[in-house]
Amino acid sequence: MTVNSLEALDRLHWVHPVANWAGHEKRGVTIMKSAKGAFITDSEGHELIDGFAGLWCVNVGYGHESIVEAAAAQMRELPYATGYFSFGSEPTIRLAAKLAELTPGDLNHIYFSLGGSDAIDGALRLIQFYYNVTGRPTKKAILSLERGYHGSSSTGAGVTALPAFHANFDFPAHVRHYVAAPYAYRNPTGSDDASVIAASVASLRAKVAELGADNVAAFFCEPVVGSGGVIVPPKGWLKAMADTAAELDILFLADEVITGFGRTGPMFACEAEGVVPDLMTMAKGLTSGYAPLGALAIGEKVYRGIADNAPEGGPVGHGQTYSGHPVSAAVALEVLRLYDEGGILANGQRVGAYFEKKLATLADHPLVGEVRARGLLAGIELVADKTTREKLPRSVKLADHLFARGYANGVIFRAFADDIIGLAPPLCCSESEIDLIVSRLRQTLDDML
Ligand code: PLP
Repeated sequence: MTVNSLEALDRLHWVHPVANWAGHEKRGVTIMKSAKGAFITDSEGHELIDGFAGLWCVNVGYGHESIVEAAAAQMRELPYATGYFSFGSEPTIRLAAKLAELTPGDLNHIYFSLGGSDAIDGALRLIQFYYNVTGRPTKKAILSLERGYHGSSSTGAGVTALPAFHANFDFPAHVRHYVAAPYAYRNPTGSDDASVIAASVASLRAKVAELGADNVAAFFCEPVVGSGGVIVPPKGWLKAMADTAAELDILFLADEVITGFGRTGPMFACEAEGVVPDLMTMAKGLTSGYAPLGALAIGEKVYRGIADNAPEGGPVGHGQTYSGHPVSAAVALEVLRLYDEGGILANGQRVGAYFEKKLATLADHPLVGEVRARGLLAGIELVADKTTREKLPRSVKLADHLFARGYANGVIFRAFADDIIGLAPPLCCSESEIDLIVSRLRQTLDDML
């Protein structure tokens, strides 16, 4: 018998990342067909507003012909050129220069990856290389935030601090050291800004003291924790963490894979606090999902440490065939042009402020414990009891059900394990599209009562 329905072929052959395999076999696939602006249509003709920009990546929105043309033109002229050794291509060189200009401070050197996980993986390997060649080989431990997400490479998933990414996997010990997240809503020492900042700073200090500064390489964090439940830190938190890392003589890596490219307002979230990290990872909004690409921006200290101390003539043996792929680079250049000349960054800032206000109106809903947002990045934490902040009972864990209700109501968001809704609408949204997201969300919450 020949199997030819897409649903059946999918069940038989496609291993979907992060899905529960048996659950997916039962549930089957939802196939997306086309998209325009902030709307996406599935194979059954349902049109939904995409409140999550794909997987927090389609920042400029769907359907930009100019991006399609940039990719096609590059494919016609030069579909591939290696970036290995000392070869290159024009779009990738121009993109590296553009990112050096856009990133803060002395983040002037750009290593290209295919996405966020391998940008983190590149950082992990290059940090090791840096300390080994600069004569401090004991500095190995990587610290990260509780509830942080830094992708799922074999070592990077250890830096990620989400139980689902750890269960039944093994990791090297040096990447499993976690620091208190700025989770005001559930911070044991108080939810005011000063207490939240103090708790994280004290936790970072305690970790370094426990391990010994000579054994600690770096601290990685997201400026706003994303997949861990959109935990928006108080203003001043990022700066306090960066300053503490510098004082403790450990490298500071800002993972801007979600927060980069206008998601929280400025081009990069670090800018809002005048923070210049030693290293910065980015992906997602860099191409807005039109092509796979990530990057690691490297500051002068680490760059020169490696360049000046690597064994003469030998390679820095880290890289991939598709690092700096010219088609992805051409796409990214056009996406960056749209943020700027196309007015999408400015639109995201204006609509982001509107989104924050509009979303706050959901706080009166009986299921809503907290609404937290920075620009077009938001989390809504659902609780059983608004006063005691008691979590919903396990028996009514909502994730799948909530997502399905939202889908039926015509809105896509993310439903995280802890009954936290994640939102990240495209930066091209209008105010009326934000209204639509919020009203469909309220309807969905009502349906859950
Ligand atoms: N870092 C952060 C902060 C992320 O949110 C993600 C993905 O969601 C990653 C890294 C991994 O990126 P990718 O899925 O492109 O490998």
